[in-house]
Amino acid sequence: MGTATADERAKRQAIIDHCRRMNASGLNQGTSGNISIRHGDAMLISPTSRPYDGLEPDDIVRVSLADGSHRGRWPPSSEWRFHRDILAARDDVQAVVHAHPTYCTALAIHSRPIPAVHYMIAVFGGSDIRVAPYATYGSQALSDHAVRALEGRKACLLAHHGMIAVGGSIAEAYWLAEELETLARQYHGALALGDPPVLSDEQIGEVIDKIAGYGLTGERE
Ligand code: 13P
Ligand code: ZN
Repeated sequence: MGTATADERAKRQAIIDHCRRMNASGLNQGTSGNISIRHGDAMLISPTSRPYDGLEPDDIVRVSLADGSHRGRWPPSSEWRFHRDILAARDDVQAVVHAHPTYCTALAIHSRPIPAVHYMIAVFGGSDIRVAPYATYGSQALSDHAVRALEGRKACLLAHHGMIAVGGSIAEAYWLAEELETLARQYHGALALGDPPVLSDEQIGEVIDKIAGYGLTGERE
C-alpha cells in the first residue's frame, strides 16, 4: 500500500473502523459480515475470514469492478461478488455493509419481508424490505438475488443468512444497517402481539418526501 493516496488510506481505515464497530455494537459477530467502499474503478473490501481486531490498512483488499481481479496480501471477502455487482449496478452507492444481525436474520430465516410497520422504513426508499431468496454464500446466484432485492431500496434481507445495507457513504450504509436491525426488532416485537397493521403506500410516500437527508446529516459525506 506504499503508493496509496491519503483518500485510499482513509477508506481502508474506515472499513476497519466500521467492521470493529459492528461487532462491538452486537450488530455482527466473529468474522461474519463484510464491508466495501467504492474507490474509482475498484472497490476496497475486508479480507475473508480475518478477525477485525487485528486488521491493518494493508489487510484491506482492492478488487477491480470490471473483472473481479484482486490485489492484496489476503483474498477478498467471500462475498466480493455481491459487493462488486451492487457497486457496478448502482451509481448512488458508495459503500456496502453486510452482516448477520440477530433480528434481521431471524426474519430472513422465515423469508419474511418487513412491511411498513414503522414510518422509519421510508429511509430505505420504499414501503418494504425485500428478502433475497437463499443461495450459497459467496455465489453468483446470491449476488444476482441481492441486486434484485435491492432495486429501489437501500437494504434487503438474505434468506437464511443476514442483511445488506448500502449508502452514499460508509457512514450512511452503516447507519442504515443499524436502523434495519432496529426495524427488524420492532417488527419481531409487534408480531408477538398478533398480525401488525401496516402504513399505506401513501403514508410512506409522504414520509419519503419529508425525510430526505434525515439521519447523520453532516456525517454522511
Ligand atoms: P467473509 O469472512 O468471507 O467476509 O464472509 C463472511 C460472510 O458473511 C459470508 O456470507
Ligand atoms: Zn454473510
